[in-house]
Amino acid sequence: MVSGKTLRACQSCGKPFYGARDRNYCPECAKQKKLDTVVKIRVCADCGREFPGGPRAKRCPECSYRSQLEKNRQRKKMGVKRPIGSIDRCEVCGAEYSVISGRQKYCSDACQREALLKWQREHKKGYSWKSGQDISKKERRAAVKKICVYCLREFVSDKPVNLCSDYCRAEHKRLQQCEADIKRGYNRDIGKYQKKRDEYRKKVQDSIND
Ligand SMILES: [Zn+2]
Ligand SMILES: [Zn+2]
Ligand SMILES: [Zn+2]
Ligand SMILES: [Zn+2]
Repeated sequence: MVSGKTLRACQSCGKPFYGARDRNYCPECAKQKKLDTVVKIRVCADCGREFPGGPRAKRCPECSYRSQLEKNRQRKKMGVKRPIGSIDRCEVCGAEYSVISGRQKYCSDACQREALLKWQREHKKGYSWKSGQDISKKERRAAVKKICVYCLREFVSDKPVNLCSDYCRAEHKRLQQCEADIKRGYNRDIGKYQKKRDEYRKKVQDSIND
């Protein structure tokens, strides 16, 4: 027997082999394991599309993202804390954001502010926590002045929204998605969206000043 080597059983195929103490697999299995750790073309378990991935990748990037969202939803239902870096949906505008703290509920400071304002409004107007209903529904629905988080235009709405138009909603969502992608490690050009937003803001300001 070679010194320092003992007869061991391969943990993969069970075949006996001579190897150092830190070896768990026979040379053939060890070679196979090494191959498995390499990024190669794999087939997505959900959509069947081919994609380049490591040995643990079961789904293509889109499907794994979708599956993560679904997992988050399940966790939320069961009241389990979301892990940092997971994707969740903003309670105000519905945009997806990547979680940076356990108690985070909103995608941005603007949405957090919007939620706080809404809470304050409800309290001022006598929201009854005992019954879980507004004392005056009519009053709650009174239109309030808001500022669009995308274009910064002032607008009036009786709904819990912080975006003034379908256009702003769509563009805001696009920007947020881009931010979320970047946080998830994707290479995206956020400058393009910010520039588009800034140009639109300017246009809005000009139209107000005219
Ligand atoms: Zn083996
Ligand atoms: Zn897929
Ligand atoms: Zn939001
Ligand atoms: Zn707007």
